[in-house]
Amino acid sequence: MNLEKLVRPNIQRLTPYSCARTEFKGVNASVYLDANENPYNAILNRYPDPFQEELKAELAKVKGIPAEYMFLGNGSDEAIDLVYRIFCEPKEDNVVAIAPTYGMYEVCADINEVEYRPVLLDDDFQLDADKLLAACDAHTKVVWMCSPNNPTGNCMKREEIIKVLNGFQGIVVIDEAYSDFTLERPFRYELPQYPNLIVLNTMSKAWASAAIRLGMAFASPDIIALFNKVKYPYNVNLLTQQQAMEMLHAPAKFQQWLSVITTERSHLMPAVAELPICKRLYRTDANFFLVRVTDADSIYQYLVKHGIIVRNRNRVALCGNCLRITIGTPQENCELLSALRQYKS
Ligand SMILES: *Cc1c(COP(=O)(O)O)cnc(C)c1O
Repeated sequence: MNLEKLVRPNIQRLTPYSCARTEFKGVNASVYLDANENPYNAILNRYPDPFQEELKAELAKVKGIPAEYMFLGNGSDEAIDLVYRIFCEPKEDNVVAIAPTYGMYEVCADINEVEYRPVLLDDDFQLDADKLLAACDAHTKVVWMCSPNNPTGNCMKREEIIKVLNGFQGIVVIDEAYSDFTLERPFRYELPQYPNLIVLNTMSKAWASAAIRLGMAFASPDIIALFNKVKYPYNVNLLTQQQAMEMLHAPAKFQQWLSVITTERSHLMPAVAELPICKRLYRTDANFFLVRVTDADSIYQYLVKHGIIVRNRNRVALCGNCLRITIGTPQENCELLSALRQYKS
């Protein structure tokens, strides 16, 4: 892979904005008169660290990834958008992605006027590397995969992912938003072997912090430098950095939640499988599962009337009559089950 040839020429040439906090990075200063900040209302009066170094050092320990391999953004969504802005020339380049999958890859492609080529998974929602590679051409800059996948819940087969990584000369993104819920080895540990790999993580799911908007991209320092060049200077605000630190310092709570959620998953799914409305329950490695039911639209509406909201995936490719159900608290899961037991078609 030749990274320079993959990057859009304007991004290659770009002189990034140089902010006050980047230009002076000393430790001993006590008088800051360089950024036109208001001297009052400490500590919110100051611009936050543009590269979030303290937070990255903490994440490095938790994730087992060096800070130089890390980009932090306003949710994974920022990282997804930046991938397009860095690598894909509007109206010229294209990307290839598994389907069905997370909707933001396609939305960001549309926003950036980049052709999006979905490649259907098989009937068990598994990836066929050859089919994915066959959809690529000389203008394909990025391949999108998601494992465990949303909305299907399952992990893509490791051998097939590796085949894509080895067979494609451009950027391969693996979104591992749900990797904390599975025992499969995360691909972020394979970064040293694959200079074309970008792995996405988020605080929004297992870390129970969707509100703070903190997403991560792990990749080679060369790719991270491109993210840093293009991102907004202060893309992760101070409150988010502080709250993320607080969460990372409470790993026992994180482990406890994980264990409750996975236990609940193992109780709820067999119970759903027993229901007369259940046609097929798909295996999952995430904190949600996909179930094919007799009539997704009608069951969805019925649940709404009972104050229970699930995700109706009936109109998504390969997901006809499927509902995506997130694992809730034991109480919430009980309410869902008892409502479904009383459903009459
Ligand atoms: C929920 C989810 C995310 C999270 O996005 P954030 O912007 O970090 O909240 C990313 N990828 C997938 C596949 C998801 O399902």
